[in-house]
Amino acid sequence: MEESTIYSRINTPYPNHELLFYAEHNFYMLCIHITLMEYRYASTIEETCRLLERGFMLIAGGTEVNLKHKAERLVDINGLGLDYVEDRGDRIAIGSTARIAQIEASELLEEHKALKMAAMRFTTSVRHLATIGGNIAESVPSADTAPPLLVFDAEAVTSSLNGERTVPVESLFKGLRRNSLNKGEMIKEFLLPRFEGRSIFRKVGRTDEDLAVTSMAISISKETKIALGSAAEVPMRARKAEEALAYSIEKACGALLSETKPVSNIEASKDYRKKLEVELLKECLREVNA
Ligand SMILES: Cc1cc2nc3c(=O)[nH]c(=O)nc-3n(C[C@H](O)[C@H](O)[C@H](O)COP(=O)(O)OP(=O)(O)OC[C@H]3O[C@@H](n4cnc5c(N)ncnc54)[C@H](O)[C@@H]3O)c2cc1C
Repeated sequence: MEESTIYSRINTPYPNHELLFYAEHNFYMLCIHITLMEYRYASTIEETCRLLERGFMLIAGGTEVNLKHKAERLVDINGLGLDYVEDRGDRIAIGSTARIAQIEASELLEEHKALKMAAMRFTTSVRHLATIGGNIAESVPSADTAPPLLVFDAEAVTSSLNGERTVPVESLFKGLRRNSLNKGEMIKEFLLPRFEGRSIFRKVGRTDEDLAVTSMAISISKETKIALGSAAEVPMRARKAEEALAYSIEKACGALLSETKPVSNIEASKDYRKKLEVELLKECLREVNA
């Protein structure tokens, strides 16, 4: 179709599909325009990284890629064998394509209860598709697995053509939908240090099957660690509140309010989120200590 005959283009929720209004012989017509995609199934990490270097976008469960990104060249990593939860002695390793439902069911993660609780609160309809790697790489504040990974001091092992590097999960979040991965780099797995203690995750959404309006994870062993979702541009540790807990819960609530920066949007106002943060902190502490 001649570009000059196109009257208007309308995006659709489906990747690579547009609705085109075009004029021909004085008639306005509507058609679906589908852009052909290049879709590769990678069989090794090296092949994946080469394709990422060439500008391909990585796809795992596809729950975000298919809705939010209009990529024309995709590399599918589901054949790389990264869908594991493994005992590595002093650590538990979770492969980046492990599904949320796998985390929910894993007996190896019994000691990391807050992570399992987060998996249980994930929207049921996507739990068998969505991966932990995609949840973290997408870098949205409401990512349910993020607060538990932060309170367990989890690390991410990334792979690129230059080799592997191990970084704290916290350092991957750079801003809304912006992570610190370099071009050609992917998350291979997450490492969770063994944990002896108690932990909890709580999430408040508009409904039971929704993204977090506010979420919180707490772990208690030698130290107490607190992390929140939807309380800033990216998932965050609440370090001031952790320190203030040494004095009182009231002081911790005050400190928490001073460090979070929730936004107002269609889901909730920032004032409402602030109130939720304080209520969640009190509730989580009460329940984890019960
Ligand atoms: C209906 C619906 C309900 C949802 N409910 C929830 C919910 O309850 N809680 C929640 O937290 N989220 C929810 N989400 C968001 C989404 O499902 C999750 O973030 C999911 O975990 C993303 O994983 P994925 O495998 O589908 O990622 P994909 O869509 O495959 O990828 C997402 C992004 O991460 C990148 N990526 C994926 N894997 C890697 C990797 N290994 N290394 C580097 N980059 C990578 C991709 O290139 C892409 O940019 C929901 C989404 C939908 C559509």
